[in-house]
Amino acid sequence: MAEFGLASELSRSSSGGTGTGRPRGPYVGRFAPSPTGLLHAGSLVAALGSWLDARAHAGRWLVRIEDVDTPRCQPGADLEILRQLAVCGLVPDEPPSWQSQRGAIYAAALDDLLARGLAYACTCTRSQIAAALAASGRPYRPHGELVYPGTCRPATPTPITTPAVHLSTAPGVTGDGHPMSGAVGSTVAVGTVTDASTQVVAPSAPRHAVRLRVEPGAVSHIGWTDRRLGPQQQDVSADVGDFVLRRADGLWAYQLAVVVDDAAQGVTHIVRGADLADNTARQILLQRQLGLATPSYLHLALVLAADGHKLSKQNGATPLDLADPLAALQAAARALGLPNAAPGASLTDVLAGWTAAWTTCWPMVTKMPGPVATSTPASPDT
Ligand SMILES: [Zn+2]
Repeated sequence: MAEFGLASELSRSSSGGTGTGRPRGPYVGRFAPSPTGLLHAGSLVAALGSWLDARAHAGRWLVRIEDVDTPRCQPGADLEILRQLAVCGLVPDEPPSWQSQRGAIYAAALDDLLARGLAYACTCTRSQIAAALAASGRPYRPHGELVYPGTCRPATPTPITTPAVHLSTAPGVTGDGHPMSGAVGSTVAVGTVTDASTQVVAPSAPRHAVRLRVEPGAVSHIGWTDRRLGPQQQDVSADVGDFVLRRADGLWAYQLAVVVDDAAQGVTHIVRGADLADNTARQILLQRQLGLATPSYLHLALVLAADGHKLSKQNGATPLDLADPLAALQAAARALGLPNAAPGASLTDVLAGWTAAWTTCWPMVTKMPGPVATSTPASPDT
């Protein structure tokens, strides 16, 4: 199977039009909030940590609004988050991006995986998956990820290029819910991101999910070294199974959107909360299947609420008090192990001081992951 030119597509998409005239350093970091609510003390820690790491590396820092799960997004929260960041002196080096506007590039990645037999349509409901797991005697974890039992998985990797499975997500052009039966052999333009209709995710679109085929064995066994947590590993096949790339309601799954965007934006270093650490193996697996570079990872300790759970919008974390941004930043800095700011110091000076202190907290990563465009094998198609 000819290798798909997604990496080159992504690098082209990342080079267009958003430059600020700054020299492009090798380091690119990002903060990627979901606009399901405003920033609170916990999310400011991730924002500040990623900003400081980028500054300490003399790199660029991006902000990406992760609004693919549109029903959970709060209208206006995106702009308010950007305002909160700006008040705290955390201004991205490029205009922010919105995942809800990037469906075409996710579609290109999904097309690639489908065309290579690495993804397939799944019509299972959550209760069907639970029943299949129970029947097979596999453990059911009430609050954990359901390990997909493989009900819809083809026996062997089966390339799919039919529009019904692939993407007919514009309103009025959906399939009948039986994607496998509609094979008409039409060729999908793999590797292009020109289909504007795929940017629209209609609620009535596909009635099937699309899952990544995770073969047991070496491919599924993912190891990486986190800058705080140290060596990590996961057998994705055993722990997660074939995971969802596009949901049955037509919305893009977090894993696919994050991996595609990090590559498209040339992100070399990911600094985020430890609650996302268990997504990392899935994301690395997906990067490899798409021929994309793997960034460096630093998962920061979480700020815990009084009940010991992660501080979140769900357990009542209050939005940041923007009347006193330095106080909010000071609390975040303390959570990151940084020293107290000198009394009366300006926001600029305080951030500069923490940038200098950051290098002693978190040793610099000297071995930079290569930029996407040069670290992936050249595609024979391009
Ligand atoms: Zn299924």
